[in-house]
This record gives sequence, structure tokens and C-alpha cells, in this order.
Amino acid sequence: MTSSSTQASSQAQNPGAGLVQKIRGEAATATITAQLLRGNVSVLMGSGGNIAVLSGLDGKLLIDAGMPASRSRITEALERISSDPITHLVNTHWHFDHTDGNEWLHSAGATILAHENTRKHLSTTTRVEDWDYTFPPSPPGALPAEVFQTERTLQLNGATIVLRHYGPAHTDSDISAHFAEADVLHVGDTWWNGVYPFIDYSTGGSIDGTIRAAEVNLAKVSATTLIIPGHGPVGNKSQLIEFRDMLTAIRARVAALKKQGQSLGEVIASKPTSTYDAKWGSLVPPNLFAKLVYVGV
Ligand SMILES: [Zn+2]
Repeated sequence: MTSSSTQASSQAQNPGAGLVQKIRGEAATATITAQLLRGNVSVLMGSGGNIAVLSGLDGKLLIDAGMPASRSRITEALERISSDPITHLVNTHWHFDHTDGNEWLHSAGATILAHENTRKHLSTTTRVEDWDYTFPPSPPGALPAEVFQTERTLQLNGATIVLRHYGPAHTDSDISAHFAEADVLHVGDTWWNGVYPFIDYSTGGSIDGTIRAAEVNLAKVSATTLIIPGHGPVGNKSQLIEFRDMLTAIRARVAALKKQGQSLGEVIASKPTSTYDAKWGSLVPPNLFAKLVYVGV
């Protein structure tokens, strides 16, 4: 087989193959946009997962690290927010598009805090089957120096930041970060606003865990909470409801087909997501999302 036909056949079997390389490549030219949300909380978008920034005299706290290929543009965007140094970094979970920037942010002054499973996965060789990709252990500077199991509260820059583990959701390492006074909630990759989510079964994620996390998020927010998703624009409760409803509807369709005895190939061929694809299918391809639901029901 030539390498291109090998690639084509692995794409058919594994529609998520190549995504890691694609996302890392795109970060080199990505535009970084900054949006002030409320109080001293902003968000940077464009480099991997969305990055929340809390600024003030104690130094900047970042929630998620983005991609190192965007380092110069992230640095410029951070300097436009304020001249405060970078002192703290929290990872919402272990995935590369939220942690690849850990090493440079640590070298720039950040102490890294995350759930214990984030450090566990970053410390060792970790394979994600649905990306067809094996991650080597991260360098020591990229590892969270501090970890927690269930909940941790930080006081910084006059703000209270509550970090809370979801239990198994999109991975087994997902946490939310709530800026209590500003009422801004970063939910990491438990929410993809306007696009199908990736779900990482290799490290403890599942469709049911993802739906449970959406319910947890809905119980936590009010109509005025500003919600930062892992991917997609900052949103609100009604958009989060739309996401939860999309997940549960597609789950029900796929589960019914699987119960009838349909194989993965047959379910994908019957396009169970078709009525949702125009709105949600632009990032994670519909055939990959259908597969991620099928294996979990
Ligand atoms: Zn993720």
C-alpha cells in the first residue's frame, strides 16, 4: 500500500485520525481574539481550547494553556489585557489543545494546578484511539505541580475561583472553574458551543458522562451566567440546553439502531445525526460523532 492509501483506509476506519496534527498545525497561523467578559475576567480564543484570564495584582491566572505555536500572539493578547505577570495556570483536563502550552507558561512564571488525572495522563505515554495518536510523557515543566481530587477554591485578585471535578465526562480529568463574583463559568470540554463534541473513551470519557456533565452545568448556571465552553463562542444557559438536547436526541437515535442489531458501519451509513449536521457538524465530523455515541450505548 502507498502511504496515501494507508492514510485513506485508516481515515475510513478512524474518522478522527489526523486531527491532532491538523490542530497543532493550524495554531501556527491562528488569530487570537480577546473578549472582556465581566469584572477582571477575559477570554482568549483561537489557539486550541478557550483560555480564561483573570488579571490583577496577584498576577494573571489562566484557565487552559492553548497551543505553543501561538505563544507570541497569546503573549501580545495577554499584555493588552494588563501588564500583570503570569503566575497561575489551571488545566480543565489533560488534552493537548488545553495543555500543550503548559511548558512555556510554566517557564514564564505559572504554577500549574489541575485534577490528579490530568497529571497522571500527562506523566505517562497516553494513547487516544479515536485520534489514532499516542502522546509521549510531557516534559517535567509541563506537569501540574499541584493536583486535587474533588474540589479546590482559590482566592486571587479579589476573586473566588471554585474548581470542581465532574467525575468521568469528556475524559476522567475534567474540571469546571467558576469565577464566583463575576459569575463566569469555564466548563472546559464538557461543552462545545455550536459544534459536536469530541469524547475521549481512551481516558474515561463517554456519551453518558458527557450528558451527565451537561446536566451538572445546567444545574449550576443561571440565566445571567457567562459560560466559557472548551470550543466555540462564550454562551449562555439556553445554548447549553440546546447542546444537552442535541446529545440526548442523537444518543436515543443511535441506541435504538444499535438495539436493532445494526453495526457501527450501518449506523454511520444511516446518518443518525443528519438533521443536526448543518448546525453542529463543522468541527468534529458527523461520522466521528456518530461513532463516539455508538460505542457508548
Ligand atoms: Zn478535550
